[in-house]
Amino acid sequence: MVGPSLRPENKVVLEHEHLQQLFDLLSKRGYRILGPTIRDQAIVYDELNSVEHLPVGWTDEQDGGTYHLKKRDDEAVFGYVVGPHSWKKFLLQPETRLWQAKSNPAGFNVTEGKEETRKSAFIGVRSCELHAIEVQDKVFMAGEYVDASYKSRRESLFIVAVNCTQAGGTCFCVSMKTGPKVTSGFDIALTEVTDAKRHFFLAEAGTAAGVELLQAVSHREASDQERAAAENAVEECSKRMGRTMNTMEIKELFYRNYENPRWDDVASRCLTCGNCTMVCPTCFCTTVEDFTDLSGEMAERRRRMDVCFSVDFSYIHGGSIRYSPKARYRQWMTHKLATWIDQFGVSGCVGCGRCITWCPVGIDITEEARAIREREQIHKAVA
Ligand code: SF4
Ligand code: SF4
Repeated sequence: MVGPSLRPENKVVLEHEHLQQLFDLLSKRGYRILGPTIRDQAIVYDELNSVEHLPVGWTDEQDGGTYHLKKRDDEAVFGYVVGPHSWKKFLLQPETRLWQAKSNPAGFNVTEGKEETRKSAFIGVRSCELHAIEVQDKVFMAGEYVDASYKSRRESLFIVAVNCTQAGGTCFCVSMKTGPKVTSGFDIALTEVTDAKRHFFLAEAGTAAGVELLQAVSHREASDQERAAAENAVEECSKRMGRTMNTMEIKELFYRNYENPRWDDVASRCLTCGNCTMVCPTCFCTTVEDFTDLSGEMAERRRRMDVCFSVDFSYIHGGSIRYSPKARYRQWMTHKLATWIDQFGVSGCVGCGRCITWCPVGIDITEEARAIREREQIHKAVA
């Protein structure tokens, strides 16, 4: 049954079977539901029709260059952390046609490219990911040049966030002050509590739309004990982070260390494959390419995601300015942890750990930052 009148500050309990009601109501309101599901032995984000497509009873094990799925001994719905996908692919399409021109007897007919316009509901967004979306909002909506399609998707988005109760082996959101508890930017936030005796979701609304939806789903008021259990689960997670990052004066550290010998060390291991940028939820680089067909009657301009690890990305009139792997890795990490702060007022790293897990040679951004700091101290001591 539907519970008592709900205010945004209320926390209510949903049972497992109520999640399907949430899905159904979002569908009825015209939302395309996107969330975690298992594909190719990983938890990825895709379109979902039913809660049965969620990775119920699965967890992931992550370390540098390592990712495995494993069965849990319970029916937890969100008992894993983040996989190789981030939400950015739904907000900024990986490839899009900006316009197409076709010749006709009178000249050219130019049409603008069409993009997915259905409004979306993201299910299972973690705190670090909410911070990453906030970062991309600054890039695409806050400056002088607003990306109209990003803005329209973003403004019609409904977010069901999930507080993390389990930390991944490569997570370091606590160091970056981006998790594991969601604090803003969601319509509904869930905390899943699962132990030997109970399995429930503590839900709270963050917006009027969230209040309205929760009100329509069967729920009951949370007891003090249930609230405490949920708080405790998130608190325990924050003590079990797989990695840490020392952020003290981190911007200044990188600005002082363009010539630190550690850049040569990491460059000798880095394959410049760009995986780290592709999985990173904040990386936003794109390139624009022009194409013509063989008949010469059609031309079009496309925008696609690009990475700062490609030599072409920094091509400026006659050559690349970041030709060496060292220059490219240094650019990526210095942008994430230092220049991004001057550019957007926040760090470009939210501590999700994806770049560590999905680097084929296990290069670890936290370890590299630590090594740069240590080498600088050694250099100072001997100088
Ligand atoms: S750090 Fe790892 S993932 Fe990134 S480009 Fe180098 S080898 Fe690829
Ligand atoms: S730099 Fe690495 S840890 Fe930081 S947000 Fe990007 S993928 Fe996540």
